[in-house]
Amino acid sequence: MKDRSPLRRAAAGPAKTSALESATLHSAITPAGTPSSEAVRKAGVACVKRLPAYLQMLRVLHGEGQEYVSGTVLATTHSLEPVIVRKDLAVTGIVGMPRRGFRVADLIHAIERFLGWDGQTKAVLLGVGNLGAALLGYRGFENFGLRIAGAFDADPHKVGTWVQGRRVQALSMLVPFARRSSITLGVLTVPAPAAQAAAELLVQAGIHGIWNFTPVKLNLPESVIVQTEDLAQGLAVLSHELRIEHRSGAGKGADQAR
Ligand code: ATP
Repeated sequence: MKDRSPLRRAAAGPAKTSALESATLHSAITPAGTPSSEAVRKAGVACVKRLPAYLQMLRVLHGEGQEYVSGTVLATTHSLEPVIVRKDLAVTGIVGMPRRGFRVADLIHAIERFLGWDGQTKAVLLGVGNLGAALLGYRGFENFGLRIAGAFDADPHKVGTWVQGRRVQALSMLVPFARRSSITLGVLTVPAPAAQAAAELLVQAGIHGIWNFTPVKLNLPESVIVQTEDLAQGLAVLSHELRIEHRSGAGKGADQAR
């Protein structure tokens, strides 16, 4: 299998550990911001998916100057059973204090460390179109320890221009740039027909983690970890569910009117 989500792989059971995974075994999250299969195996998919939500709330509490938080408060806020929250937090190795709960700062640190968001992952982005430029401008990645260090495009009219504080570089500069700057992740925002070739170029540059925003199923060596975010697929599900909801809502309205 070439295009594989760590979550899906982990859910399918133990898989052969790839070179990138071995290098980041201590980290629960792949450079793309998705949990590594190792972490998911240990903690469970649902748990790893819930941790970022706790983290978001904890950062707000920290900003408000709150020193301690109880597992019960976290559970209530997230509409979960306290026992689930307790089990989730246990995977990070943190221990709460009787009657006081968890120190907010320590809990933030423990979750970040568990998710591998306490370091910095350097990425390059290929395809500085509308989506690529939007991702380049998204400051939120800093919260996940991700920095897009370089932007590349095939269009000679874009090369040399500045987008969101990065100078767009020619594709020919990708390999030397990636090697020089220790890049571990490639963000792919090229049009679909260019996706396979662009992904191969990333692999040629020594990059083994690809965050694929194209709908293309990439055919790459086994050692490459690909996380695909198919926006069209997500939107299709949402639109479909909205239509169903709308229809059943209209049905209810009609029933009431009768
Ligand atoms: P725009 O209209 O600015 O091109 P867009 O998002 O509609 O934006 P797309 O056709 O999706 O454009 O292309 C995204 C970007 O990918 C463009 O800037 C395009 O020049 C670039 N691109 C196309 N092929 C490649 C490639 N092989 N490698 C890198 N970049 C590429």
